[in-house]
Amino acid sequence: MVSRVIPVDPFDLVIFGGTGDLAQRKILPALFRRYCAGQWHDGVRIIAAARSEHDPDAFRAIVAQSLAEFAPEHAGQDDLRSGFLQSLDYVQLDAGADSGWDVLARKLTDDRIRAFYFSVGPSLFGPLAERIRQHGLATPQTRIVVEKPFGHDLKSARALNATLAAYFDESQIYRIDHYLGKETVQNLMAVRFGNMLFEPLWNSQYVDHIQITVAETVGVDGREEYYERAGAMRDMVQNHLMQLLCLIAMEPPAKFDSDAVRDEKLKVIRALDPVQPHHIVRGQYTGGPDGPGYREAVGNPRSTTESYVALRAHVSNWRWAGTPFYLRTGKRLVARSSVINVIFKDAPHSIFGAEAGRHANTLSIRLQPNEGITLKVTIKEPGQGGMRLIDVPLDMSFAEALGPENLDAPDAYERLVMDVIRGNQTLFMRGDEVEAAWAWTDPIIAGWQARGDVPKPYDSGSTGPGDAELLMKRDGRQWQGIKP
Ligand code: NAP
Repeated sequence: MVSRVIPVDPFDLVIFGGTGDLAQRKILPALFRRYCAGQWHDGVRIIAAARSEHDPDAFRAIVAQSLAEFAPEHAGQDDLRSGFLQSLDYVQLDAGADSGWDVLARKLTDDRIRAFYFSVGPSLFGPLAERIRQHGLATPQTRIVVEKPFGHDLKSARALNATLAAYFDESQIYRIDHYLGKETVQNLMAVRFGNMLFEPLWNSQYVDHIQITVAETVGVDGREEYYERAGAMRDMVQNHLMQLLCLIAMEPPAKFDSDAVRDEKLKVIRALDPVQPHHIVRGQYTGGPDGPGYREAVGNPRSTTESYVALRAHVSNWRWAGTPFYLRTGKRLVARSSVINVIFKDAPHSIFGAEAGRHANTLSIRLQPNEGITLKVTIKEPGQGGMRLIDVPLDMSFAEALGPENLDAPDAYERLVMDVIRGNQTLFMRGDEVEAAWAWTDPIIAGWQARGDVPKPYDSGSTGPGDAELLMKRDGRQWQGIKP
C-alpha cells in the first residue's frame, strides 16, 4: 500500500531565519522531502530571509549541504535536488528594522497562498507580524507560522496573542507544536474515535491511570541560555506533554475539524486541577562519563532550573474523576523515548485464583522511537500445567502492518508545513489553548519560586530522581520502563 500524495496549490513561503538551525535542520529538509514525494511540481517559491549577506546561489549551496546531511535518503537524486534548489531564493532583511522589506515586497506579487514562517527568536514574533502588515504583504490568503516558545508565562503569552491578533485573524495564525504533527499522535485519534473497541472503556471506570513519558538522552547543549530561563516545565510540559494529555483525555469532537478538536482540548486544560506540591518532583542532572552536569553546562553553580519534571495531574470531569495522569520528562535520561501508556484496571475478579497473578491491559502509544501502538493482553502461558497467565503484546507497528513504504510517512515538520499550505489548523494550537496551558503551569512555577525549591539531583543516564519513583510508589503504582 503506497500512500497517496495529494498535490497542493502553488504557494510562496517566506522563512524568516532561513539560515538558522531549525530552518536548515528541519524546515528545508522537510520541504525537500515533500517536493521529492511529488507534493508540488512547479511554481512554488521558498524565500529565506535573514540579516546575513548571501546571494541566492550562495544560499542554495548552504541548503544543498543541509539536504545532504538531513535528508540523506535522497542522495544521488540530482534532478530532484536541483529542481528544489531552483525554487529557493534569499533576501537580506532585518526583522526588527525596515531594511530589506522592499526587496521582499517586490518578490511577492502573485495572488496565491502566502505563508510566513517565523523561525527566529520569540522577541521578533511581534515585530515581524507588524512589518508584514506595514509593508502590505498580508493578503487574505496569508498565514503566519509561529515557533515555540509561545510566551514565557501567561502574561507574555497574552501579550503576544494580542500583538498577533492586532495584525492577523486567528484563522491565519499557526502556532507549531511539532509533537502534534507526529503520525502516531494522529493515529491516537484514529484509534480512539475510529474503533468501537476502546472508547467505551476510555474513562475512570476502566482506566486505572495514564502515564505520559518524554525522555531525552541529550542535555541542554547549545540551548543553555534559553533553557536556564525556561526549564523542563516551560520547555516541555506546558506545551508537548499537555497537548498529548489533551488528546488522550478529550471528549470525542463532533467532527475532525480544527475548531471542534481544539474546543475539546481546551475543555481538558480548563478541567485540570491545580497540582499539589507533593504531587510534583523536579530534578537536575549531574555530570557523568558522557558529559558535564546541568550546572556546569549552563555555567551557573547555583542554578535551580529543573531538567526533569514528574507530576500527577487530575482532569476534574465526569470521564476522568479519580484517574490520575502521571507526566514525566527529562534530559540526560537512560534512553530517548516518548510514549503514552494507558493502563487499564485489573479484571474485577480472577477466576484463575491468586497464583495467576494480577494482569492489567496496557495500551502503549509510542511516538519515538519506532512509532506504533501496542496493546498488552493477557493469555494463557503455553505448555504450562494449570492455568498460568502471561501478558503478550499485540503490536500495531505501522511499518510491519502497512508495509515498509510506510516508513516514508511524512515526518512532523513535513505534515505541519503542508497543513499550513492547505489551511488546516487542526494540529496547531489556538491562542486560548496556549493561554489556558500557561494558566495551569504558572502557579506551579510560582510555588517553586516562593518556596525556594531546589531540584533533586539525578545521575546522567538514569531514569531520573528517586523521588519520581516514590511519587508512583505512594499510589501503589510504578512507571513503565523507559526502554533503551
Ligand atoms: P538560530 O539558529 O539562532 O537562527 C536564528 C535565525 O534568525 C538565523 O537565520 C538568523 O540569521 C535569523 N535572525 C536573527 N535575528 C534576525 C533579524 N533581526 N532579522 C532577520 N533574521 C534574523 O535559531 P533556531 O534554533 O533556528 O531557532 C529559531 C526559532 O525556532 C526560535 O524561536 C526557537 O526557539 C525555535 N525552535 C527551534 C528549534 C530547533 O531545534 N532549533 C526547535 C523548536 C523551536 P541572521 O543572524 O543572519 O539574521
